[in-house]
Amino acid sequence: MNEPADTRFALIGNKPALDFANTVHARRQDVDALQSACDLFDLLEHLALAPADTLTRYRKVAAADTAGAGDLLKQALAFRREVRKWLDAGLDFPSPSHVLLKMVNRLLAANASYEALQHKGTQWSIESVPLEKTLLLSLAPIARSVAELIAEGPQAPVRKCGNPRCPLYFYDTSRNQKRRWCSMESCGNQAKVRSFLKRHGHVHAAE
Ligand SMILES: [Zn+2]
Repeated sequence: MNEPADTRFALIGNKPALDFANTVHARRQDVDALQSACDLFDLLEHLALAPADTLTRYRKVAAADTAGAGDLLKQALAFRREVRKWLDAGLDFPSPSHVLLKMVNRLLAANASYEALQHKGTQWSIESVPLEKTLLLSLAPIARSVAELIAEGPQAPVRKCGNPRCPLYFYDTSRNQKRRWCSMESCGNQAKVRSFLKRHGHVHAAE
């Protein structure tokens, strides 16, 4: 909340599932970008995955129930670990592990809702009310995106940044599907500088 929209999260994944997996590395520092439940709500906000009034409600609930917020963070990190394990396993997209499958389906189920007539001001409206009342509901849209990637299967153009030290993944939407870097400004540029120095004899071949 205390940083402008684009400074903390890399947001180069083109899919919420990958932007979520990429939170292991904040945009400008080598730190975890998910350090609290509020960080997760900020991510949802940047990705437009939840309406403003829902986010306000999540933040209020998290502020009043710190144990619940702590539990949500724990569950989010465990979920992220499983998603990354699946991504790290290789780009031929093996079947998701039993643990990941259970997590995704549990979170998809959290998204179930029913309709109810509600009175707002002077008007009645038919509103969609979530069945799940806990903060876990906030992870449902991320789980939906993970489920879509798993369902898309091996043809999904998911790639890891070409810098072996960079942990970021992206869904390659470039026209010829030859995107190599998380971003040209960071890893792409570093690679360009390295190859320039190498050509000019400033870097040993081993590097
Ligand atoms: Zn990179």
